[in-house]
Amino acid sequence: MTRLRGILFDLGDTLLNFGKVDVLGLFKQGASRAYDYLQSLGQPLMPFPTFYRKQVWAIRWAYFKSRITRREFNSLDLLGRVSDAMGHRLTHEQTLELAWQFYVPLRDKATVEPRTRELLEDFRRQGLTLGLVSNTFLPPEVLDRHLEQSNLLDLLPHRVYSSHVMYRKPHPGIFNIALSQTGLEAGQTLFVGDSPHADVVGANRKGLISVLKDPTGRHKKSRTNPAHRIARLEELREIVATYR
Ligand SMILES: [Mg+2]
Repeated sequence: MTRLRGILFDLGDTLLNFGKVDVLGLFKQGASRAYDYLQSLGQPLMPFPTFYRKQVWAIRWAYFKSRITRREFNSLDLLGRVSDAMGHRLTHEQTLELAWQFYVPLRDKATVEPRTRELLEDFRRQGLTLGLVSNTFLPPEVLDRHLEQSNLLDLLPHRVYSSHVMYRKPHPGIFNIALSQTGLEAGQTLFVGDSPHADVVGANRKGLISVLKDPTGRHKKSRTNPAHRIARLEELREIVATYR
């Protein structure tokens, strides 16, 4: 039997659950917070509707381009460019805070399964290496801050974000980076995620042991073949035990 050495997690709807959200509505709330923040810094501002429209179009265009080129973007770079064009003069820290303000409404929607921290602590005590691999155009600093506030950051020392490495799952590139960063071998690593395509297909292709998190059973008939299926993270205990 394979000896398990590590677990890599997807982030959205695996460790942090967002469920169905009204993306545009939350973006508008975030834009309003960002606008207030810029105002508090005394930055020159156009009327909010214009500010909002320019932000929406910038992100839509970047998103469109990234899907065509199949490469991720980092919305922090984009935000910096849009801010420059609007005549704002921001330090790096202020641009990060601006990105955070955009994100706060989405952060407020997130929940973590009960006892997730204890679960990860137990895995660490068993000597397992833990990390995460996330598809996101959000800056790593913003998601790290969310994980810190959720009291999970210190348990996940290895974090690979597509906005940093530019590859998106299921591209093998992002899995290679995660494996080399953690020093794990694919066959000794569980990969836990909620997306049959990005997570299960990606992990299977690289030879990781895939676990599909499917709380509602909506992927029951999916043709991808996870090695294991779970509805809740707690069920990982049993799976991990079978590899000891
Ligand atoms: Mg996910």
